Amino acid sequence: MLIARLIAEPDHLNTRLDAARAAMEERGVRLAGAAMLDFCGQTMEITSPDDDAQALREVLDTYFGTSDGLICRDEPQVPDVFISDMDSTMIGQECIDELADFAGLKPQIAAITERAMQGELDFEAALRERVGLLEGLAESAIEECLASRIVPMPGAKTLVETLKSRGCRTVLVTGGFHHFADPIARLLGFEHVVGNRLEVAGGKLTGGLAGPVTDSAVKKATLLAEIAEKGDHATSLATGDGANDIPMLEAATYGIAYKAKPKARVAANGWVDRGDLTSVLRLLGIRQTDWQTG
Ligand SMILES: [Mg+2]
Repeated sequence: MLIARLIAEPDHLNTRLDAARAAMEERGVRLAGAAMLDFCGQTMEITSPDDDAQALREVLDTYFGTSDGLICRDEPQVPDVFISDMDSTMIGQECIDELADFAGLKPQIAAITERAMQGELDFEAALRERVGLLEGLAESAIEECLASRIVPMPGAKTLVETLKSRGCRTVLVTGGFHHFADPIARLLGFEHVVGNRLEVAGGKLTGGLAGPVTDSAVKKATLLAEIAEKGDHATSLATGDGANDIPMLEAATYGIAYKAKPKARVAANGWVDRGDLTSVLRLLGIRQTDWQTG
């Protein structure tokens, strides 16, 4: 059994369903039902007694244009654990690229970031290379960067606060740095932060990192540890956009790729390409009247 929820152009939802149904049946995915969820705005729910999620996904991508969606095997519910990436997911920037601008190195560093997030470079090596280039930058540049450059992603605080109000544990896990993630977590309402530490000496970045690196394996391990805390049947939501989010997206009950790099989008069972982060709440079936803004 498959349940898909889809938010797309309203005209597309109405006019393309017949063609999508035919394409689904051609791929061996029968349509058991399709209805708008009246409690959730422009969200359509499609059900099928079959279980080829990949085939269903390809039909939805082909027939409904730019959309937000989630495909799962049971009725979506409020998760027990929410874990999210920070850069380009909870905030609109890549912190290290913005910080690099203060060192006059943005083009060089941003080019490495882009390749790392596409999954073309080893994450840790690419991180250490970029941090090394920042050697000698004043620590005070971080505060200036936070204040002048870093902006929460639309819907981020509503997503975190609403899930928290429903008893969900909220964790920010980043391949970026505590210098940025701690204040951003406080702003958005996250209860816990896992990330990397920039080493500082004499008020300046040394170009090194203190302690172990938070990479894709640590992101996934953090998710699994949080699930274990909640017990055997705990459900989880992960959101992210980059290649280093893939193991965590795959391990979560609901792995939602937010305006993501192609490899992360393909690996996830949910995607948000059209709306803002509140689309995640719609896909989980949380009514707008229950949304919290903190
Ligand atoms: Mg990211």
